[in-house]
Amino acid sequence: MTQTQAFDVFVVGGGPSGSTAANDLARNGVKVALLDRAGRIKPCGGAVPPRMIRDFDIPDSQVVAKITCARMISPTGRKVDMHINGGFVGMVDRDRFDEFLRERAAKSGAVRLTGTYVRLERDDAGTHVVWRDKASGEEMRTTAKLVIGADGARSQVARENVPGGDTIPYVIAYHEIIKAPEGKSGIDYDPTRCDVIYDGRISPDFYGWVFPHGAHASVGMGTGHSDFDLKDATAALRKASGLEGCETIRKEGAPIPLQPLDRWDNGRDVVLAGDAAGVVAPSSGEGIYYAMVGGEVAAKAAQAFLKSRSAADLGMARKLFMADHKGVFRALRSMQDAYYKSDMRRERFVSLCHDKDVQSLTFEAYMNKKLVSKRPLAHLKIGLKNVAHLMGLVRPEWT
Ligand SMILES: Cc1cc2nc3c(=O)[nH]c(=O)nc-3n(C[C@H](O)[C@H](O)[C@H](O)COP(=O)(O)OP(=O)(O)OC[C@H]3O[C@@H](n4cnc5c(N)ncnc54)[C@H](O)[C@@H]3O)c2cc1C
Repeated sequence: MTQTQAFDVFVVGGGPSGSTAANDLARNGVKVALLDRAGRIKPCGGAVPPRMIRDFDIPDSQVVAKITCARMISPTGRKVDMHINGGFVGMVDRDRFDEFLRERAAKSGAVRLTGTYVRLERDDAGTHVVWRDKASGEEMRTTAKLVIGADGARSQVARENVPGGDTIPYVIAYHEIIKAPEGKSGIDYDPTRCDVIYDGRISPDFYGWVFPHGAHASVGMGTGHSDFDLKDATAALRKASGLEGCETIRKEGAPIPLQPLDRWDNGRDVVLAGDAAGVVAPSSGEGIYYAMVGGEVAAKAAQAFLKSRSAADLGMARKLFMADHKGVFRALRSMQDAYYKSDMRRERFVSLCHDKDVQSLTFEAYMNKKLVSKRPLAHLKIGLKNVAHLMGLVRPEWT
């Protein structure tokens, strides 16, 4: 085993969370290593909000499509087009996006390492990360004051080091990257519109999607039901959308965590970020923005820890995150619990999307990651409609 140079912080995982943490730390003069195993594109729909693009200085060249309409499709095939006035949903391709973030961290001063995390070792000299170098196949040992576990869903760092890290619940999401059906007649496909399909045959507990990505599109679905056939459901979704004949470029799936951990650190030398900490928005499965925020707060906690050498400072990562996002996570969890249960509920949910206030408040909340409180009457109206739908007091409405 080869002993390498030592670092202040060793980040395991170079996805959005780990790369953001490494970038922030390096920019602040911290000696940081960023390890990623490389070689696999993260399966992901790639939908991101404008706030992420703004807050994390994402260049326009990374945004391969700007979506200005979301079409909600109900179990009976009813469609509600929600137009995003004055805004958009951005689409990034994860092969280019993740590499851009890793390279940005390296330009800021992080040392990029390519290989696989193996385990942590601890002795009187401190904490050591054992990892296997991809090029040589050799085991390396790197000493660090702190380890950031940003190695994604089912994180090995979390499982081995943080209470609850081995029991985070998941849905499995699967998608197919296809060539976009440019100009093909008879296909209702629009490169500026994403389709969100609420239908128990496509997903009994989540949803299906068609996300345009310029020359390509992501078509997929997610479910927590282990006996549900994800490939069959995606084939059915492609058929229903008229996309079955499009060339398939990749087929891939991965877990999406459902529940943020109660603790993100081990009270000693490890703090988690992003999917590793279970942080993905309920209802939508949106995780890229939250992973980047997770990386940002992990970097803040790391700097406080390096200064004070008090492990209590590691708790700052979760505290900072929850202070900003707990409300949105709660609201989205309630929505998922209420409406993703049966086709009748899904029908009502899509019906509710007709409401112009629902549309504008939803997109304002999505784009800016804040629950909008400036229009109390609109909230009251939506709340009452919500209750009426859940109690079956009104029939689903259609224009
Ligand atoms: C099918 C699907 C569709 C999705 N669609 C969307 C979407 O449209 N919008 C959205 O916002 N979110 C979406 N998500 C969720 C989103 O992809 C994740 O929440 C996000 O990628 C989390 O970022 P992360 O950095 O925490 O983890 P990841 O992106 O998973 O990055 C973890 C990194 O760690 C590395 N790694 C893992 N293990 C090791 C190891 N042992 N050694 C070294 N390196 C390691 C991996 O190579 C990877 O680069 C989707 C997820 C799935 C599965």
